[in-house]
Amino acid sequence: QSSPLRNPHVAVFAFPYGTHAAPLLNLTIKLARAAPHVSFSFFTTDKSKHSLFSSSSSNHNNIPPNILPYVVSDGIPDAHHFPSPHPLERVNLFLRAGPRNLKEALRQAVSRANERVTCVISDAFVTSALVVAQELGVPWVALWTSYSFSLSAHLNTDLIRQKYSCANDDDDDGGNGSLGFVVPGFSKMRIQDLPDGIIQEEGGEETVFSRMLDSLGRVLPQAKAVIVNFYEELEPPSLIHHLRSKIPSLIYSGFLNLSLPILPSPPSSHTHDKTGSLSFLTKHAPNSVAYISLGTVVAPPPHELAAMAEALEQSKVPFLWSLREDLRAFLPKGFIERTSNNGKGKIVNWAPQTLVLGHGCVGVFVTHGGCNSVSEGVSCGVPMICRPYFGDQFMASRMLEAVWEVGVKIEVFTKEALMKNLNVILVQKEGKVMREKARALKNIVLDAAGPKGKVEKEYFKSLVQLVS
Ligand code: UDP
Repeated sequence: QSSPLRNPHVAVFAFPYGTHAAPLLNLTIKLARAAPHVSFSFFTTDKSKHSLFSSSSSNHNNIPPNILPYVVSDGIPDAHHFPSPHPLERVNLFLRAGPRNLKEALRQAVSRANERVTCVISDAFVTSALVVAQELGVPWVALWTSYSFSLSAHLNTDLIRQKYSCANDDDDDGGNGSLGFVVPGFSKMRIQDLPDGIIQEEGGEETVFSRMLDSLGRVLPQAKAVIVNFYEELEPPSLIHHLRSKIPSLIYSGFLNLSLPILPSPPSSHTHDKTGSLSFLTKHAPNSVAYISLGTVVAPPPHELAAMAEALEQSKVPFLWSLREDLRAFLPKGFIERTSNNGKGKIVNWAPQTLVLGHGCVGVFVTHGGCNSVSEGVSCGVPMICRPYFGDQFMASRMLEAVWEVGVKIEVFTKEALMKNLNVILVQKEGKVMREKARALKNIVLDAAGPKGKVEKEYFKSLVQLVS
C-alpha cells in the first residue's frame, strides 16, 4: 500500500523580484499537470504570493490542486526597517536571509503536507536552495529565466575577468572587441555587451547580489539539471556545445511566459482591453505603430522620456506607450493631449503586451531588452529598437542586433537616435529586411514550440521524469 510519505514532493523556491517568479510558477504548473501524483510546494514572499496566486491574478483559475503556495520571509529584519526604494536593497535582504530562511518555510510546508521533500527546484538566483537540497540529500534543479548567452557569461566570469585584466592590443579579437576568442559562441559579443558585474568596476561595491552572481560558475554545475527559459533552436550550436561541457544536464523549457502561438485576440477579448490598447491599434495601418514599453522596473531619466516624446511627435509615427503614471510629468507640456487629440498616440498604464505585439498593426517594439519582452517580440515577429539599462539587457540587445539581426540597439534615447531608427525600421529597405528576418525567427520559434520541437520531444519528458 502506498504511503503518503512516499509521494514525490517538490519544493519550489522563487526569486520574488522583477519578473522572475512568474516563469517558475508557469513551469511548476506545467509539471504539476503532467505529473498529478507529485505535489509541489511553491515558496515565495507574501507580496509575490499575492500577485501570483490571488483571485485577480491571471493564474488564479489555472493552478492545479497539487500546487500549494507558501510564504517565505522577505528577509526584512523587523517592522521598523524600511528598505530604500532601490530594488537591490530588497534583493540583498532576501538573499542574505539564506538557507535558514528557506528551511524555516520548508519546515511548515512539510509538516502540513506530511510529505518529505524529494526534489528542490529554484530560480538559479536562489543559490541557497542548493544547500537545502544537499542537506536533504535530494537533487537540485535550477531555472535560468534568461537565455544561454547570459548563462554562459556568468559561468565564464572568472575566465572573462582573467582575460580582460591582461587584454592588450595583440589579442586575437579581430580588432572588434569580440569575446569569441574567450568564450565559444561569443563571436558577436563584446565586453560592453556583458551583464553588469562580470567586469568589476574599480571601486564598485560588493553586495550579496553581486557575490551570488559571482558564485554561479561554481554553484550551477552542481545542479542535477539547469533549465533555460529559451529554445535551443535559437542558439548558436557552439554556445550550446560549450554550455554542455560545463553543465551536463542542460534542459530547455521554451518560453515559459508564453503560450505559443499567440493567437490574435478575438473581438470578445476587447472587452478585457480595459485601456483600449487593441482598439487603438485597429485604427492604424498594418506594421505602422510603434509599441513602447520598458518593462516593470526601468524608470528612464527625465531627459530620455522627453526625447522619446519629441521623437514620436516630430516623426508622426503612431504610437502606443505603456508608461507609469508617475513618469508622465517628464513629458513635454501638452504632448499627451496633442497626440491623443490627433489620434496619433495613446499612453496606458499597462498594455496586454503579448496581444499588442501579436497585432498586425504594430511595426516596431521599442524595448529595454528585458528577457520576457525579447521572447515576446521574437515570438510575434516584430522588429525591435532596444535601449538596455542594466543586467542582461545589454546582451539581449546585442542578440537582437548582431546575432539574429532583427533589431537595433541604441545607447541612450535622444530625439535624433529614436527618429532615425523608427525611420530605418518602419520606412527603409533595411527595416523590411529586418521584418523578414523577424518573421523567419518567429517561424523557428513556432516550430520549436510545436510537437516536433526539442522541448516537447525530449526536454519536458526528462524533466517530468526527474521530478517524479
Ligand atoms: N508587460 C505587460 N504590459 C505592459 C508592460 C509590461 O504585459 O504594459 C509585461 C511584458 O509582457 C513582460 C513583462 O511585463 O512579460 C516585463 O518583463 P521583462 O522581462 O521584459 O522586463 P522586466 O520588467 O523584468 O524588466
